[in-house]
Amino acid sequence: MAEGIPALLLPQPVKVHEVRHTKIFINNEWHTSISGRTFPTFNPATGAKICDVEEADKEDVDKAVQAARAAEQRGSPWRRMDASSRGRLLHQLADLMERDRRLLATLETLDTGKPFLQSFFIDLDGSIKTLRYYAGWADKIHGKSLPVDESFMCFTKHEPVGVCGAIIPWNFPLLMFMWKMAPALSCGNTVVIKPAEQTPLTALHIGALIKEAGFPPGVVNIVPGFGPTAGASIASHMDIDKVAFTGSTEIGQLIKEASAKSNLKRVTLELGGKNPCIVFADCDLQLAVEETQKGAVYNQGQCCTAASRIFVEESIYEEFVRRSIETAKKIVIGDPLDPQTSHGPQISRQQFDKIMDLIESGKEEGARLEYGGSAVGEKTLYIQPTIFSGVKDHMRIAKEEVYNLFQFTTDGSDTGMEIFGPVQCIFSFKRQQEAIERANNSKYGLVSAVFTTSMDRALTVSAALETGTVWINCYNALHAQTPFGGYKMSGNGRELGEYALAEYSEVKAVTIKLSETL
Ligand code: NAP
Ligand code: MG
Repeated sequence: MAEGIPALLLPQPVKVHEVRHTKIFINNEWHTSISGRTFPTFNPATGAKICDVEEADKEDVDKAVQAARAAEQRGSPWRRMDASSRGRLLHQLADLMERDRRLLATLETLDTGKPFLQSFFIDLDGSIKTLRYYAGWADKIHGKSLPVDESFMCFTKHEPVGVCGAIIPWNFPLLMFMWKMAPALSCGNTVVIKPAEQTPLTALHIGALIKEAGFPPGVVNIVPGFGPTAGASIASHMDIDKVAFTGSTEIGQLIKEASAKSNLKRVTLELGGKNPCIVFADCDLQLAVEETQKGAVYNQGQCCTAASRIFVEESIYEEFVRRSIETAKKIVIGDPLDPQTSHGPQISRQQFDKIMDLIESGKEEGARLEYGGSAVGEKTLYIQPTIFSGVKDHMRIAKEEVYNLFQFTTDGSDTGMEIFGPVQCIFSFKRQQEAIERANNSKYGLVSAVFTTSMDRALTVSAALETGTVWINCYNALHAQTPFGGYKMSGNGRELGEYALAEYSEVKAVTIKLSETL
């Protein structure tokens, strides 16, 4: 991103001597945990502890839910507030995020290891735009007047669902926070949000901004803590009306189960995928090379949208692989706080080990390691951008279950997700129909991409792909206006766009008996 721009002209991180917000945020106040416990958060680039954070558990979640419930009761300041004023508050929060943008980007980079310019431009931009988009919706959420049979009149109203829980992953902590909070508040709900245990810092800073923006107490509550305790309490809470989750399939299934066994709260899930790209010989080759590689290694490959399976038409396969290697050489590995860096460390030792294990298995089973494939330095969490070609369906890297690497199969025995590591896996295909079948041969269906200069082919293939998003001649093109979510086991429901409003509203039908037919 910083290519060719002198370092002095780039935005710079701020010096963070001490993180200001490390407590549980309930009712616009900072609380210590009821248990007295805290947990450390680390900088993945150095392994150093950044600070300790108060650890919310079930009792703290209960306290947060009580606050959120009181704030959404009929007659409360939030419920009585004009919808346009809700929109103004969301804009006010966006303004404060603009003001604190360098600090928020620095905290995000310290906590996740993602390159600073990526935090500054992509994550902050996406977060602020999401807020402003839903700020605009607040006073435009309305029902319909319906032409019903006989002498009745019917209209619908869209009302808030109530208290909404959100469980956030560590790969895009701030962005996922906004994808959930912004539509929830726009529709008039209140929220209880659990950031990922690895990355709580930006969420807590947002707590301070929520208060400063003037949101009434209890509208937003933030409970940093662990999944099996704080997260599970949200999923099974009897007084939470809806939960939105982004993360692994395994935990997504637990969330649904917890809902079923508690109060049948609504559940929306975003669980990643094994996302296919189909690159046809008639494409703009350099564009396809660059976009698919970004798709695979962006954010160190830690993306639900990661381009896990790149199918390239046979006639351009060798050239595509050659150019992919050349492009990978330009990736700048380094200190994430250095604005010139484009590739940082993985989030944790656990994720690092999983990825290295899969890379090793790929080498052992005979996939062709074209580039990278090693850790960078000793005892770090950095992994080189890695390219494999010649992957065969029987290889473990082609069908590994949980850990996302090259996971795809063409034999119908698909079980895996994307690897969540900076690994690009390139396959060849001969015929369009074959590429479509292999692309769809997955129990996931989050995103896909097609590279071709033929609009007819682009539209034909995009119609056949079983994914919630199809990108044509681009990758990771996400916008606040565009719905995002998966087919099949990639999840339920949609985030972003007008579609997300339905996930955060109840529809009430009001039917009136008339004395005569109109
Ligand atoms: P994860 O366990 O699914 O974590 C996602 C969120 O769920 C975190 O806030 C986590 O809390 C919470 N959680 C964990 N167990 C829970 C439970 N029993 N009940 C309620 N909430 C719970 O993901 P991970 O372990 O961090 O990463 C493992 C794999 O998940 C990755 O390799 C990747 O394949 C996938 N993943 C996908 C996405 C995505 O964008 N779709 C994002 C992250 C990870 P903690 O903070 O305690 O973990
Ligand atoms: Mg951290």
